[in-house]
Amino acid sequence: MKASELYSMGKPVYSLEVFPPRNGESMDAILDTLDNLMPFNPAFISITGGALGSLRGGTIAIAAGLKEKYGIECIPHFTCVNKSKQDIENLLMEMKFNEIENVFALRGDPPMGQKEFKPHPQGHRYASELVKQIKLLNEGEYILSSVEKNYKASPTNFGIAVAGYPNGHPECLDRDEDIKHLKIKVDNGADYIVTQLFFDTEVFLEFVENAKKIGIDIPIIPGVMPMDKYGQIKFVSKQMGIEIPKKLNDKLESYKDDNDAIGKILEEHTLSMCKKLMEQGAPGIQFFTMDKPEGTKKILQELCKEEKAMATKSVTGPSDFKSLNRALEIVFSKNYENKNLLEIKAIINDNLKECADKYYNGNVDVLVENELCDLIGIGPVNPEHPRSIYMYVAEKIFKFYQQKTYNQFA
Ligand code: FAD
Repeated sequence: MKASELYSMGKPVYSLEVFPPRNGESMDAILDTLDNLMPFNPAFISITGGALGSLRGGTIAIAAGLKEKYGIECIPHFTCVNKSKQDIENLLMEMKFNEIENVFALRGDPPMGQKEFKPHPQGHRYASELVKQIKLLNEGEYILSSVEKNYKASPTNFGIAVAGYPNGHPECLDRDEDIKHLKIKVDNGADYIVTQLFFDTEVFLEFVENAKKIGIDIPIIPGVMPMDKYGQIKFVSKQMGIEIPKKLNDKLESYKDDNDAIGKILEEHTLSMCKKLMEQGAPGIQFFTMDKPEGTKKILQELCKEEKAMATKSVTGPSDFKSLNRALEIVFSKNYENKNLLEIKAIINDNLKECADKYYNGNVDVLVENELCDLIGIGPVNPEHPRSIYMYVAEKIFKFYQQKTYNQFA
């Protein structure tokens, strides 16, 4: 399933970014982070590749393994660093055969010790060119297609994410120019944008406005990194050219030697940014977890609490079993041949949503709470995790259906 489709399902989409361990080290930190955050039912997991020039390997394999383990979309970040177009095509085939359906297309940071990005002689200079190559593959245009006259091959169907920079990319001094470069990525086929982190919500909102003004009409997802240390925020700010608002900076300077106070200041600041982003209509948030669960967990707990409160407020009618029957009717009447399991799960989610729209003012959580929990025996909804219950129920119905139609898949 294309990750971008998740943004049109009428629910906030929370996704998690993890990064591969150093070459030779274990996956424990990633697994611990995800095990801790899975109860919040993240929509998908993004896996970085060689960020800040680290040149770590394993991104594609990790994405494939996590998709298998957790059953949700996993999106490898894919850079142009040291890759020819042929290398790129071959690696995209690795993804296709590993059933990876989305790619985060990036130019990449220069490898450590190198100041400037140097494109591979047979590769790409900008991410927009990589996006174009992926888009061409999606249309069945492989490298051989231009060499061998009758070369025909199946098109791929990758969803494509790209990076955006609310504070501007450090190499492009003119923010208007930088956003025009973002538009080229969108015109070349990107489906959604995840932004670099920022410390001021207004900067993000202005960026979204400016993007809209020049015709960028795909989802723009704020990237948020929960932090708790003075040195960390200062390093990130300097390294990535991200301004710290004066008010926050003054507070940080006043308490710079008090680790607990700094932790609290940063936690409150990030949480208040996230709440404001969601209030202002952001389609979701991508959390840069840094392979540590605690910061993201605190924020998700709070956001889910608020969602739950909003859902409960807008209940309109008494519970009945019409919507459940309707949900199951639709689910079982579909023809699922030729669809993969994740696609079927998405259809079930859609159908729950359709019933919720009809009977519960669009409130899937309420539908689930009122009608499905008892039926499948999962007890009352945990107010802290309304979304997770919803996804859990979809999963249960999905498993039930999967069992019923086992022969179809065998
Ligand atoms: P591009 O979009 O190609 O832009 C690079 C620079 O070129 C910009 O300054 C842009 O303005 C300029 N430019 C673009 N097109 C043109 C043009 N036609 N003419 C002139 N100038 C142009 N890096 C990693 O190495 N691994 C990762 O996993 C990773 N994950 C990331 C995740 C997110 C959410 C973000 C925001 C960034 C990530 N990065 C990662 C960092 C990224 O690779 C760097 O910021 C890199 O320097 C630029 O990559 P890009 O894809 O944005 O490049």
